[in-house]
Parts: sequence; C-alpha cells; structure tokens
Amino acid sequence: MKAILFLWKRVNSLEMDDKIKELFSVWDKHNISGFYCENKDQALKKVLELVPQAASVGFSGSVTLNEIAAIDNLKSRGNRVLDPYLAGLSREEVMQTRQEATLADYYLASANAISSKGELVFFSAFGNRISGVSNAKNVIIIAGVNKITPDLGEALKRAREYATPLNCRRLNWKTPCLPDGICRKEICLFPEYERMCCQVLIIEADVNPDRLKVILVGEKLGF
Ligand code: SF4
Repeated sequence: MKAILFLWKRVNSLEMDDKIKELFSVWDKHNISGFYCENKDQALKKVLELVPQAASVGFSGSVTLNEIAAIDNLKSRGNRVLDPYLAGLSREEVMQTRQEATLADYYLASANAISSKGELVFFSAFGNRISGVSNAKNVIIIAGVNKITPDLGEALKRAREYATPLNCRRLNWKTPCLPDGICRKEICLFPEYERMCCQVLIIEADVNPDRLKVILVGEKLGF
C-alpha cells in the first residue's frame, strides 16, 4: 500500500513538474519571471533575496503573505513597509497608505488564481491590489500551486466562487456569499450588501522584462 501511495505521489509530482515547467516557459515568453520554491521557508528566503534591504515595500492583504511571514520579516530586517493594517489608523489613513503602497519600490501580493496558460487573476474591492500589481515599479506575486487552474475560465471561477467567499468570511464582509460561501452576484448590490468583487485584473504579459516576478510555491498556500 505504501509503495502504491509513493508511486501515486511520484506520478503526481512528475505531472506537476511538467505543468510547472510549461507554465514557466509560457511566462518567460511573456516577460514574467517565474521562481519555484518547494515550501514556505524557501518562498520567504526568495522574497528576502529579491527585495533589496533598502527598498520600500507596499503590499495588499493576503493570507499567503501572512503564511510565509513575508511582511513581518521584511519589517524586522529594516525595510520600510507601507502597512495599511497597522493598528490605530483612521479610514483615511488606511486609504492613503494603500495608495502610497502602490508607489513603493516593491509591491507584494498574491493572485486569486493562475491559469495553466499563465494568466494571473486578481479580484479587488478597493482596487489597490490591481493598481499595485499592474503599475508598481517592481512586483512580486507569491502563490501556492493550489491556485493553478486548467484555463482562464476556471481561474475566474475560482477567484469569484471559491477565493472571494472565503475572503468575505475571513474579513466578515456583508455579502450574499457570507453565510454559505455561494456567490449570488445578481443580488450582490449596494447598499444592501458590501460587494467585494468590484474590479478584476487579468495579467497576460508585461512589457517590461524585469518588473513582474512570480514565486510559485509547491504546497497549499492561502485560498
Ligand atoms: S459577487 Fe458578491 S456574492 Fe459573489 S463572490 Fe463576490 S462578494 Fe460574494
């Protein structure tokens, strides 16, 4: 039984290796640099290696970033981090910090989904993540392999119907998907509800060959 399990894991790992190689090759042709890390520790190490110690850092809220402890480690080694989640900030200060974060030297975020064809999908409520990912000087996306989907349609579906309801629950947003995790976008309207799916970004490629990097982590991260 153990041998069968090992074989099954090995086959899956080989399939994933091929998928990842294909993904990286697609990204390469679209000016997106891919880095593969086996686990959280390696992913953190790669973030600390890619971001210079003197760089300012902006980010958008992400379970994945929390799970690899990227922000805490960048702060503790001396990077200036524009953190909209600091305790005691007023709503105006939070919004201002979110805007300033997109002008930092480096912007960190996670994607909601990644299609096997290479498209990166981001849903956003306020748009700060979309602004940062699409326009910041240097962008690093960190995502677990659990976010890879067969195609763009499935990636959009994953982002809206799986990731967003979990984020609504995590942040206690008053949305139709909050009670049971089922998206009902037809009735997700203001002012009755506080809709989270307001803006969608799909990245296919980048004009600048050095701007956008993706750290793909070989274990489940975020959702
Ligand atoms: S559209 Fe509304 S109900 Fe659907 S996932 Fe987004 S926030 Fe939830």
